Amino acid sequence: MLDILRRIVEDVSLAANLDEALGITVGRVRATLSVDVCSVYLFETASGEYVLRATEGLNAAAVGRVRLRPTEGLVGLVAERQEPVLVQDAANHVRYRYFPETGEERYRSFLGVPLIHYRQVLGVLVAQQRDDRQFNADESAFLVTVAAQLAGAIHHVAVTGGMATLLAGNADDLGYIEGARASDGVAIGTVASAATLADLGAVPDRTVTDVEAELERLRRAIAAVQDDLRASGARLAGVVSDSELALFDVYVMLLDGDTLPADMAGRVSAGQWAPAAIRDTVAAHVRLFQGMSDPYLRARADDIRELGRRIVMRLHADGPVGPREYPERCVLVGDEVSITDIANVPRRQLVGIVSGRSSAFSHVAVLARAMGLPAVVDVGELPLARLDGHTVVVDGYRGRVFFEPKPAVLEEFRRIARADERLGAELRALKDLPAETPDGARVTLHVNTGLLSDITPSLESGAEGVGLYRTEFPFMIRESFPGEEDQFHIYREVLAAFAPRPVTMRTLDIGGDKPLPYFNVVEANPFLGWRGIRVTLDHPEIFLTQLRAMLRANEDLGNLRVLLPMVSNVAEVDDALALIERARHELAEEGHVAPRPPIGVMIEVPAAVYQASQLARRVDFLSIGSNDLTQYLLAVDRTNARVARIYDSLHPAVLNAIDETLRAAREAGKPVSVCGDVAGEPAGTVLLLGMGFRHLSMTAAYLGRAKRVIRTISRARARAVLEQALTMEDAGSVHRLVRGELEAAGLAELLRGR
Ligand code: PEP
Ligand code: MG
Repeated sequence: MLDILRRIVEDVSLAANLDEALGITVGRVRATLSVDVCSVYLFETASGEYVLRATEGLNAAAVGRVRLRPTEGLVGLVAERQEPVLVQDAANHVRYRYFPETGEERYRSFLGVPLIHYRQVLGVLVAQQRDDRQFNADESAFLVTVAAQLAGAIHHVAVTGGMATLLAGNADDLGYIEGARASDGVAIGTVASAATLADLGAVPDRTVTDVEAELERLRRAIAAVQDDLRASGARLAGVVSDSELALFDVYVMLLDGDTLPADMAGRVSAGQWAPAAIRDTVAAHVRLFQGMSDPYLRARADDIRELGRRIVMRLHADGPVGPREYPERCVLVGDEVSITDIANVPRRQLVGIVSGRSSAFSHVAVLARAMGLPAVVDVGELPLARLDGHTVVVDGYRGRVFFEPKPAVLEEFRRIARADERLGAELRALKDLPAETPDGARVTLHVNTGLLSDITPSLESGAEGVGLYRTEFPFMIRESFPGEEDQFHIYREVLAAFAPRPVTMRTLDIGGDKPLPYFNVVEANPFLGWRGIRVTLDHPEIFLTQLRAMLRANEDLGNLRVLLPMVSNVAEVDDALALIERARHELAEEGHVAPRPPIGVMIEVPAAVYQASQLARRVDFLSIGSNDLTQYLLAVDRTNARVARIYDSLHPAVLNAIDETLRAAREAGKPVSVCGDVAGEPAGTVLLLGMGFRHLSMTAAYLGRAKRVIRTISRARARAVLEQALTMEDAGSVHRLVRGELEAAGLAELLRGR
């Protein structure tokens, strides 16, 4: 059963459109359960009705004509109850509704299960039998499982189908897809997809100019796969049965024959790049085999898919033909855009990011904000294969993405982009003015950075230093741990660019959602696992290399500050301090001058809030990482889009924790700053100002905005707002309160999209 299920789901996801997907579903379910009828009814938003969309067994002419309101018929009953409904004598049930065109009066037994995707009933899957049939528990469970699995696949195909309409410019409404806001601003550009090639369905369309070279690449990949298959067959001889071994011969033969390779080559000759030529060849052949009645031949569809995947992987390993060309104004679109994907696009060309799954608090979103790139995430599954080259608008203010927007929509976004530019220019004009409140409180504004490419905007932002340099970013875009020399050059460049202004370098903070491709760690709960200082203390060789590189880079500059992430125990600080001393000692022995830099601890787990005094006593400064602090205080995975609604750094519990930490630092006589995103949010800036923070660090893109808030709202006013906020019970009330205050102060334009 599991096998049948897997195959149905796979075939449905490969279907070219919704009708084909539903056709496959009803045909397979009917055959598997040996029922007389299997049908799918789907909810139609425009009419508010359930419509018969596919059937095997009822009159085909009834498709599209049989319509039921949610309160009607047995189908409506299944949708209403959101659970399976089994009826023995359907025609005599109170909810039965008769449609002469279906011919269904003949069928007595009815089993209907809902198709639900993320709480939303998409439709109903129905099995019917002429005679009295007792569907047994296994059959009912099978139908429920098919429905649960299919709902996702159907949703995907429906989105893809809808996208096809959007891409063709035929949508009759405004035509956008909705996601979550990850980084403010509007980007108008051309899609470049960031797809994983192992997933055939996600291989994007791309054209090639050098057809001969692409054909050669394809030939090489096919030959390499044949070699792999022969070698695997030889290795397994005597290990698996002869019939299993024969499978390898079948694979090799399929690739020897004319049909598959010729079909692939034909598509390449027509201008497609090889991966998409393979994708389309596989889809066409899979359809062909599936239509065959012989079960042996039908099973060959699986082989073809497997072969396609292998060739694409081989092509990938072979490397793309030359460096990939990106559009001039490139919007990177992917299922889960990675930091490496971002790093691959020349900075000048990248204007926006759209990610299917990431949440607004993931590190990709953090990086998008750091680079000032409008970004929308959590838009769900996208037909990546069909998007390359299309015009797209990323509305980072409202979390919307418009593919092939209508001229009026495009014009509206151009207007917003122009207004943003004006505001940006106004804010840039504040660059050399101090961040000082009207009643004389001076705040030091620092930037958060992580890539060499954002040094220039950071320098131009008027920042008085770097409050957080995320050292893991250069680690994440490499293929192995960078050595001491490599790191020395990176750190030296950053320190020199800002000198004499201070640069706070955080030691490696990997783990959580920041895995290194070359350092595989599999954990059930990565955010509660081996992360930040826990990793570096367990690997002193990695930690010492990094510390040595930082200390050497600081020689004769003297503007380095070292920050320790994810501290949850005082012993971690003691151990880290000892290792820093060791690195200094080693360097001194080698003749370097390595003075002890100021050392700080990040307060980003609740334990550190409650031990802020003990931690502050051991080091020179504290820095509050409100992104993680919010995650750990509210128990909300910052990368999980499903719970993103309850992640909020203005939650009164988070505000109280930040306030508490500030007090502890003051008592210990140590400076404390905030370097999480809350510092750069207008409402957050007001509240932190009210608490009395004098050091804030944020991405360069938000610095001008924070400066304007500080130069407009007096410290006394901010304190009054804070006092009120701290008495509130939920984040929503805090947002409303501060918003009102900002609007009254004439800062409404800083709140676009909020
Ligand atoms: C934080 O957690 O607030 C922080 C600044 O660090 P990161 O976002 O890199 O985890
Ligand atoms: Mg953090």
